[in-house]
Amino acid sequence: MKLNALNFSGGPGALPESVLEQTRDAIIALPDTGMSVLGMSHRSDWFRAVLDEAEQNLRHLLGVSDDYAVTFLQGGSSLQFAMIPMNFAARAVAPPEYVSTGYWSAKATTEAAKVTERNIIWDGGATGYRSLPDLQALGVAPSAAYLHYVSNETVEGLQFPDCKQGAIAAPLIADMSSDFLSKPICTAAYSMIYAHAQKNLGPAGVTVALIERALLDRIPNGLPAILDFRTHVQHSSNYNTPPVFAIYVLMLVTRWLRDDIGGLHAMQTINERKAQRLYDTLDALGDAVTVHAQPRWRSRMNVAFTFGDSRLDRAFIRVAREQGLTGLEGHRSIGGLRASLYNAVGEAAVERLAAVLTEFSLQRA
Ligand code: PMP
Repeated sequence: MKLNALNFSGGPGALPESVLEQTRDAIIALPDTGMSVLGMSHRSDWFRAVLDEAEQNLRHLLGVSDDYAVTFLQGGSSLQFAMIPMNFAARAVAPPEYVSTGYWSAKATTEAAKVTERNIIWDGGATGYRSLPDLQALGVAPSAAYLHYVSNETVEGLQFPDCKQGAIAAPLIADMSSDFLSKPICTAAYSMIYAHAQKNLGPAGVTVALIERALLDRIPNGLPAILDFRTHVQHSSNYNTPPVFAIYVLMLVTRWLRDDIGGLHAMQTINERKAQRLYDTLDALGDAVTVHAQPRWRSRMNVAFTFGDSRLDRAFIRVAREQGLTGLEGHRSIGGLRASLYNAVGEAAVERLAAVLTEFSLQRA
């Protein structure tokens, strides 16, 4: 198995082998232009077609209606932590509401406070971010500017179930950076969804944002153009020089999902099997390992766990590396181990990880 396929990194992570091959060729000469993708103008017809196909593929995969704009932005998801309150809080009757469910939503909450008044209506920090709230039961104020949450907490390995349309009274905004395109979602339940590319979509450098067009009317005038969502919608994500390379690779990944995988239902089935296999393996090890998330909230994308002793965790990382398995270090904020099971990590890779985990524990029992 190629080492790319055994990359369990939290992101940037594994990309589909066929996409890497096309990307390698495109760096030298694109099949359709003969030019290197790295030297293609963002004003070329070729790039216009890439943007169009990326958008169409996303609309097709996720069932996104014309009520939403699809934009490709820069600055990562971190910029969205600031841009969202700048754009959508100023003209609202009541402040936005935030749930703090892990490392990344806590960051979003902190950044929002620099821009606007905001309410934290649930905070799992005191209990170590091991569980999630039922969003619907939180009683979000209908007049709130929006409710912001992170659908999958990449560090702690916690994942919300899908949100139902109409379940939340205020506009719902989700950071889906680490589970976007891993399964179908009810896009109509959201006013905005954003996700950076470096998990399931492609290389770092581009962030996809689906924005309900009605929400654009709430943006105050006078924002710097680059920070105003309307600029990117009006210029079809080609206002200043976009990350042409990253968007090209993202387009190839969406093609792979559409043609090779067969859509997001098929992707979800594979991802569920992978996660089940790994959690079953960890559960079978009994007290030897602890999974960070409470069972009900376990993420299908990021499995955070520990052998309970940093020396053992480090020993496991060494053993795994000898077998070609990489990226298993836990996030620096909580330590331990983390296996990220993004779309391009195949079932054979998970089988290999399960076998190495079991053998490692048996040897130390
Ligand atoms: N949100 C989530 C859920 C993440 O996992 C990350 C990074 N891993 C971020 C936001 C920050 O993203 P970026 O580095 O693109 O700013």
